[in-house]
Amino acid sequence: VGHTSLDIDKIRKEFPILDQSVNGKPLAYFDNAATTQKPRQVIDALTEYYSGYNANIHRGIHTLAEKATHAFEQTRVAMQTFINAGEKEEIIFTKGTTDSINLVAGSWGRKEIQKGDEIILSGLEHHSNIVPWQLLAQEKEAIIRVIPVREDGSLDMDAFKSLLTNRTRLVAVNHASNSLGTINPVAEITSLAHGAGALVLIDGAQAGAHLNIDVQALDCDFYALSAHKFYGPTGTGALYGKRAILESMPPYQGGGEMIRDVSFTHTTYNDIPYKFEAGTPNIADVIAMKAAIDFITTMNKSSMAAYESELLAYATEQTSSLPGFRVIGTAANKVSVLSFLIEGIHPFDIGQMLDARGVAVRTGHHCTQPLMEHFGIEGTVRASFAVYNTIKEIDQMVEGIDRIIRFLK
Ligand code: PMP
Repeated sequence: VGHTSLDIDKIRKEFPILDQSVNGKPLAYFDNAATTQKPRQVIDALTEYYSGYNANIHRGIHTLAEKATHAFEQTRVAMQTFINAGEKEEIIFTKGTTDSINLVAGSWGRKEIQKGDEIILSGLEHHSNIVPWQLLAQEKEAIIRVIPVREDGSLDMDAFKSLLTNRTRLVAVNHASNSLGTINPVAEITSLAHGAGALVLIDGAQAGAHLNIDVQALDCDFYALSAHKFYGPTGTGALYGKRAILESMPPYQGGGEMIRDVSFTHTTYNDIPYKFEAGTPNIADVIAMKAAIDFITTMNKSSMAAYESELLAYATEQTSSLPGFRVIGTAANKVSVLSFLIEGIHPFDIGQMLDARGVAVRTGHHCTQPLMEHFGIEGTVRASFAVYNTIKEIDQMVEGIDRIIRFLK
């Protein structure tokens, strides 16, 4: 292990938060699927904006406003490149994945979905790609269908094919599962869905930091992202939508910026993307999101993913001989997530005892209760890796788990 071309020690120095002790032990941060840490250039972008050119965007003619507007719009271009969208106007800034999905459900969904229409989700979805569709389905008397999950945590594609009918209007699935790491065959899902006349939304929350994203090659209709999962700040993210579809959609929220002309009898709306960006946006964090994109692009996402796969393979191998250790989610194609249980020990206890040893993991249902129910479990312990993690940190975790098992059994 450790054949990466990346200089991990150097990368770690870019993340000030990593250099600390937790409970007297060096911090090993393995909660990256919940949120990644931020490199200095992201933190600096925030500070530079607030200390150098804080101003409201788009309407100002003064220098600071122009500078802020320019930086804000540069992120749109960077995001366009990051996911290979055809046009920058197809990038809408949102609060993140949840907000992006709610935008599609609230605008496209409320316009297009009718009684008896069907929306297909997968058994791997995060609550944020379930509940917005449920709210819509309740309002419209539409029907939700679910692609079943197989024993290894992959989707049953044969079952998916049989779920597609001429009533299917939308298929909404994640690119990668936050709970198990499974990478879903989103290109195939999209092409099958299109064959049935349905649109496709991909929840890319877990893909941003780990998978190359090409929305044109995927041909998906919508793609949702959160910056905080790919080394960027919280409170911002993006929705990609195909131009023709976005143009056909009614506004989601009303307010300033999204209008062309307003009177008390009639309002006309701005062009995309502004039609969907009502109010003063999260300017600072959008600007800093570009720093995160630049960080990933400079390092090369494929190299990062290759290194993270090594970490996952090592962690999987090192834990495999621990007594009672059981991995949930064993599909061949995974992002770097190790979800596990240890026979006879509650996940919460493992999480607490690892924290006492400086190791940060997540325990619980990971906002995927239907998936946990499918496996007949309440939750798991989840270690999720990022580019700054090391083999040494994994050793620290494995040693910790080993001690916990010995102590409690
Ligand atoms: N989908 C997936 C797969 C996720 O992992 C998450 C975050 N855990 C979300 C959606 C929601 O993202 P956010 O909370 O940033 O809106």
